[in-house]
Amino acid sequence: MLRSTLLAAASRPRLRRWLEAAPGGRAVVARFVAGHDAAAVVRVAEELAADRLRVTIDHLGEDITDPSHAARTVEEYVKLIDSFREASVAGRPDVSIKLSALGQALPADGDAVAYGNAVQVCTAAERAGATVTLDMEDHTTTDSTLAILGRLRVDFPSVGVAVQARLRRTEEDCVRLAETGSRVRLCKGAYAEPPEVAFQQRTEVDQSFRRCMEILFGGPGYPMIASHDPAMIGYAQALAERHGRAAGDHEFQMLYGVRPAEQRRLAAGGHTVRVYLPYGVDSTAYFLRRLAERPANVVFFLRSLTGR
Ligand code: FAD
Repeated sequence: MLRSTLLAAASRPRLRRWLEAAPGGRAVVARFVAGHDAAAVVRVAEELAADRLRVTIDHLGEDITDPSHAARTVEEYVKLIDSFREASVAGRPDVSIKLSALGQALPADGDAVAYGNAVQVCTAAERAGATVTLDMEDHTTTDSTLAILGRLRVDFPSVGVAVQARLRRTEEDCVRLAETGSRVRLCKGAYAEPPEVAFQQRTEVDQSFRRCMEILFGGPGYPMIASHDPAMIGYAQALAERHGRAAGDHEFQMLYGVRPAEQRRLAAGGHTVRVYLPYGVDSTAYFLRRLAERPANVVFFLRSLTGR
């Protein structure tokens, strides 16, 4: 109930504006967001590098309805990626992009606009020795996102994609995606989805997550396990051992501000760990999805609003 209310709020502009104006609201958001501009997020990436933590950086924003906003998002990504050359970040940096921020939902030619914009981001990333991963949004966008991934990978084979264990289709998608050179980020899925397309029970989602991991670890691609759940992380480690995968053949990913001690512990133990690092001013939808994932975060947030 609380989860679906928060997820619905993420797409309501008035509620989003209220949250931004609420006393203490911005301070709590800052726990999950690495700053407002490229310089700030790169500074955080450099700090994380001291603990051997790699990054994937997300410029916040989604569901744009104006092509000029998409063009500005591309400019922002190119500026960010160009700044990687002077920064000392760990490993090969990655950027996460939401195709809805690049024009996917535009009524006319949304897919073509998003593809063209993604090509510009991928070109900049290739120039800087970075990689690009496509975030996965709600289920109405999955086919379009996977089709755009296929087109992008013709020229940029290292482009990765996120898939969501919550969706019933994802096991089959994993079978198709687990090929040589593919980078697949498996997550549980952050969107409220209807029962026709998605598992509703936590145990079903976890079982699906395990089945998808078995497919990805058993294939020739590069699995990226995006979860804070100790049970999923433990199972991934067991699968890596079973399939003889070294630390460089797969990675763990977690969100900035969530289980930071565990992130450092895994990295210190020799695992490849990447932190998803969002930045920008349009942080509310992202923040509400994080609240929906964990009731304790809601309590923390309400306390900060009331100053207690
Ligand atoms: P859960 O079962 O939700 O949580 C397990 C435990 O982790 C909790 O008990 C708690 O201890 C801790 N935890 C989890 N979430 C939080 C939180 N917000 N705050 C504090 N503690 C928490 N979703 C998409 O739909 N599309 C994407 O492209 C996408 N990309 C992602 C990229 C990364 C790197 C990560 C880590 C997640 C991504 N997600 C994405 C979100 C994901 O789908 C889940 O909603 C989120 O990760 C919570 O699921 P979990 O696997 O951590 O397990």
